[in-house]
Amino acid sequence: CGIVGYIGPRQAGELLVSGLKRLEYRGYDSAGVAVANGTLDVRKKEGKVDELASLLKARPVHGTVGMGHTRWATHGAPTDVNAHPHIAGGGRFAIIHNGIIENYGSIKRRLMDKGYTFLSETDTEVLAHFIDDIQKETGLDFAESIRQALTQVEGAYGIVALSEDNPDELIVARNGSPLLLGVGEGEHFIGSDASPFIEYTRNVVYLNDGEMAVVRADGYEVTEINGAPVAKEVHALEWDL
Ligand code: GLU
Repeated sequence: CGIVGYIGPRQAGELLVSGLKRLEYRGYDSAGVAVANGTLDVRKKEGKVDELASLLKARPVHGTVGMGHTRWATHGAPTDVNAHPHIAGGGRFAIIHNGIIENYGSIKRRLMDKGYTFLSETDTEVLAHFIDDIQKETGLDFAESIRQALTQVEGAYGIVALSEDNPDELIVARNGSPLLLGVGEGEHFIGSDASPFIEYTRNVVYLNDGEMAVVRADGYEVTEINGAPVAKEVHALEWDL
């Protein structure tokens, strides 16, 4: 239900948790983060963001790129396992997702026939393994594998993906769920709205439905999910804190 992302010089963990707290008003039943630092560390918990924060105190994450999610369950009960992020590729990458993948059932059956097993009951985990399968079948890079997957997916989504093999980029896509980028100096933010990063930057790029972005610390590229490049304007927010 809520999405936050960060890539830059700061430690991502605390920034993600405080961002998720700002998104609590949207409603949710579970929360989680993934942070990359050589490996990919995922922490997720059913319940309030405060419970995720306690888990992170006990089992901290380190790294300057990461993403966080608050879940409002649509497919699968609110449990730790069904909470996002969902990993695939043997834990090499993870995705967070708002919305619903309508055709997850047929994709899941195809993947199960190929031997994929699923930890959760979510539509989101199906998309994660689908990306993995495409990457293995085609040898495409991470972003292009996600693009291929999304061209075959029906439904509404806001997605962020992070791979330990490409810790210098976050992959973002939107089709029916709000997502915007916060443009800083040497750092970038992602949010369902601007509240998670408003004290760091007021320069934002709104993603439209059918667009995806590769976001790095020092820049970003926006394309249509079907591949065409898109030139985006940076808007300056005029919000009172
Ligand atoms: N359909 C996904 C799930 O049930 C995402 C729900 C959401 O938007 O938080 O896990």
